[in-house]
Amino acid sequence: MHVPGIIIGGGIAGLTAAVALQQRGIAVKVCESAPEILPLGAGIWMAPNAMQVFQRLGLAEKINAAGVPLHNIQIVDGQMRPILRTSQERIRQRFGHTTTAIKRARLQALLLAEIAPADVLLAKTCVSLREVPQGVNVAFADGTTITAGFVIAADGIHSAVRAQLFPSVRFAGTGHVVWRGMTEIQLAPVYKRSITEAWAGGVRFGFSEVADGLVDWFVVVKATPADADHHGLKSRLHTIFQGFAYPIPAILEATDETRIIRNEIADFDPIPQWSRGRVCLIGDAAHASTPYMGQGGCQAVEDAYAIAQCLHHEPTPELAFAAMQRLRRPKATSIVKKSRLMGQIGYWTGAAGALRNGLMRAAPARLVEQQFYQVYRLNY
Ligand SMILES: Cc1cc2nc3c(=O)[nH]c(=O)nc-3n(C[C@H](O)[C@H](O)[C@H](O)COP(=O)(O)OP(=O)(O)OC[C@H]3O[C@@H](n4cnc5c(N)ncnc54)[C@H](O)[C@@H]3O)c2cc1C
Repeated sequence: MHVPGIIIGGGIAGLTAAVALQQRGIAVKVCESAPEILPLGAGIWMAPNAMQVFQRLGLAEKINAAGVPLHNIQIVDGQMRPILRTSQERIRQRFGHTTTAIKRARLQALLLAEIAPADVLLAKTCVSLREVPQGVNVAFADGTTITAGFVIAADGIHSAVRAQLFPSVRFAGTGHVVWRGMTEIQLAPVYKRSITEAWAGGVRFGFSEVADGLVDWFVVVKATPADADHHGLKSRLHTIFQGFAYPIPAILEATDETRIIRNEIADFDPIPQWSRGRVCLIGDAAHASTPYMGQGGCQAVEDAYAIAQCLHHEPTPELAFAAMQRLRRPKATSIVKKSRLMGQIGYWTGAAGALRNGLMRAAPARLVEQQFYQVYRLNY
């Protein structure tokens, strides 16, 4: 089979890229290794940079209707006293959108609905690539091969394509894990339409509604030998967060223990090249970041749109991929670095933690919002 383009991976990056390319009349097939498109994790926050991309793709209204556009992002201490609070209203006035919290499954379903079913090939695991005069031969685990004019590799943090193109990537574990859950619970009005992240004692608990009465939450804790074991997990989490105020114990209590998921927190040092010839990495495959800024998926959405734009405007895939990297690499790299820093600062305890909280409380709101503006602004 010969096709104009192949996208490897049907996560947020791959599906968004397929939508953006098809809207520009560029035909692609999405090859996903899983037998069905499954969300990785429970909920996701789509910040205004991603929402502006979805606006351009004609999807923002649907995403807002399926999720919860938020009014506040706040960091609090264990007693729910504010450390940092940003009004999303000024951000909405500037960018047209706030952050929307949405179930990942809903977001992926909305993206999938925009793609012809015949263009999504499931149970199709890419195992290797080879450049040939007509394009790129992509070999799959089922023994088949497809020749494509170009390949977009959106196959996630452990990208097989990246491993083949740029094998010497240096992963940086943080020694922390994140547990994520979703539960039905009605929050007090102050916590509705808000992302709240509580920092205390070197651990964090974040939560927000992703639909009315449906709360997505995560905790970040130091990895321990007992981590991989689900048995007694809820009581371990209750012990860790016993000093935290309402609604954290209530959210934990309401959650079905068997549906709590675990992720190791890791990223990798920025790589100098995202593309080689007619193959280009996007999303986590190119620049996975730790989740502390909630930007990994948003950056993937930005990549997806930018690469479609470059393929539309440039005469060859090689030029398009070089242009895409010029547009996107500086910002994506700075997010990886800032997210690492945010992670370290969030774990400070004792005097350092008190100093951090004092400085953050004293920071003028406008100064804090400027930091968000840099992340939310699109440069294409
Ligand atoms: C705890 C946590 C919370 C987060 N919260 C947020 C948030 O609120 N907001 C945000 O923007 N980001 C968030 N992120 C980051 C976000 O989840 C990722 O950045 C995003 O999922 C990356 O999308 P992707 O499509 O690049 O990769 P993935 O979502 O990893 O998708 C890769 C896809 O490729 C497929 N695949 C893999 N290998 C192959 C192969 N060889 N052949 C074919 N298919 C293959 C996989 O099955 C998968 O479907 C969070 C991450 C974590 C861990």
